[in-house]
Amino acid sequence: MPELPEVETLRRQLERDVVGATIRRVTVRWRKTIGRGGTIPTPFPQAVRGARIEAIGRRGKNLLVHLDGGRSIVAQMRMTGQLLRTPRSARPDRHTHLIFHLEGARDGCDLHLRDIRKFARFFLTRTARLDELPALAGLGPEPLEIDRKTFAAVLAGRATRVKPLLLNQRRIAGLGNIYVDEALFAARLHPLTPAGRIAPQAIGALHQAIQRILRASIRTGGTTMRNFRNIAGEKGRYRERLKVYQRTGQPCARCNSPIERIVVSGRGTHFCPKCQTSPQAPA
Ligand SMILES: [Zn+2]
Repeated sequence: MPELPEVETLRRQLERDVVGATIRRVTVRWRKTIGRGGTIPTPFPQAVRGARIEAIGRRGKNLLVHLDGGRSIVAQMRMTGQLLRTPRSARPDRHTHLIFHLEGARDGCDLHLRDIRKFARFFLTRTARLDELPALAGLGPEPLEIDRKTFAAVLAGRATRVKPLLLNQRRIAGLGNIYVDEALFAARLHPLTPAGRIAPQAIGALHQAIQRILRASIRTGGTTMRNFRNIAGEKGRYRERLKVYQRTGQPCARCNSPIERIVVSGRGTHFCPKCQTSPQAPA
């Protein structure tokens, strides 16, 4: 599932390639791609026909396409969604569920949503009412904007383990399994540490690690484990820099111990048993 760096990669490319373009029309090839819960009652294809793309934003893992007339499309790629810059002449394949036919985009291309598992969703809403959309309501702060003090307040007094807390989009938005595992490794924190018991110094290290890792991943176009592609159809290159995520049994880059995998709140969790101190047996 694309996390913050992958969605931010899409955002930057869309900003470069489709801002200023007009949506000539939309072809919906799989109806459920258009999610319920938008605040504009007109059917999506009619409502966005002729709209000009004014800006591209992001909130957590959600992509925001701001249109003229005070409307915005909220796009969630979820498991396997790929938003691809596609030549007009290209024939959509059977996994293409939504097509934005554009006028004035870079190289005269269209945008295709390709989504093997069909979980991606697009919503249309009033820009002024974005926060009311269930997908965005109650999202926590952005990890690249949050300062250390506010971050400390997110963790303070919570008995929840640090890993599920960081995955909870209501506490902090945009982090998923990959970057939480990587940030906890960088900060030398065991994923099962109760959030409220992390020492101030370690909170500072975790805050720094999250921001450094997200920025480094954005610089390399995100992480592709399997499905993520940028709008040019290319894979992200951060995978080769991963230290623990899906590296079970491989040596820790710091201490050579084999990386271990446990399941935390149903999610595969990767860590170094030696340099990420266990909360049960503090060093
Ligand atoms: Zn280690």
